[in-house]
Amino acid sequence: MPWTKEQYHKYYEQNKERLKTQAREYHLLHKDDPHVKELRRESIRRYRQRHPDRIKETQRKYYHTEKGKATIKKYRESEKYKQWLTQNLEKNREKHVKATREWRYRNRERVRGDNRERRERRIVEAINLLGGKCQLCGKTENLEFCHISYTQKNQVSDLAWAVLREPDTFLLLCQECHLHPEKWLKELIDIKAKLR
Ligand SMILES: [Zn+2]
Repeated sequence: MPWTKEQYHKYYEQNKERLKTQAREYHLLHKDDPHVKELRRESIRRYRQRHPDRIKETQRKYYHTEKGKATIKKYRESEKYKQWLTQNLEKNREKHVKATREWRYRNRERVRGDNRERRERRIVEAINLLGGKCQLCGKTENLEFCHISYTQKNQVSDLAWAVLREPDTFLLLCQECHLHPEKWLKELIDIKAKLR
């Protein structure tokens, strides 16, 4: 009676080391035999087909090791890669744009978080750039950016961004002072003169 799969499995597990050594020796002896080569190629191909996830996982792990990183670096610096890049420039651009878009979609939470962090950092920078306190009463809470002149670039929703680019077109005011333009409108020119 032929063995069942389980029996084979059990036999293999019990004689693993010996069988592995045998296989290795056989491979060393016959590795240049075209027939063996073909069998081996075929077996690898089948394994890849059957376990695409395992292959991907192995590759992913490898590219995170030092050795893997070195491999990538070496390839990126090689003539072969440069050649490939120039030959496939247009195709790559499309692919790259698509891949980036997909990555951003897959990691949208992270992207959103990054954007939020960047925006918050920008606000702090902009506030510091304008002196860090209300330019009328000196309060340091509830600060707002106040347009004192409009340009093409500073009429955006992200005021901190605009402040960092054109700080001269803004005042930093607390909410209360900002709500009372009569307090600062007539002094505007003086304030700007005093500040700079
Ligand atoms: Zn104020």
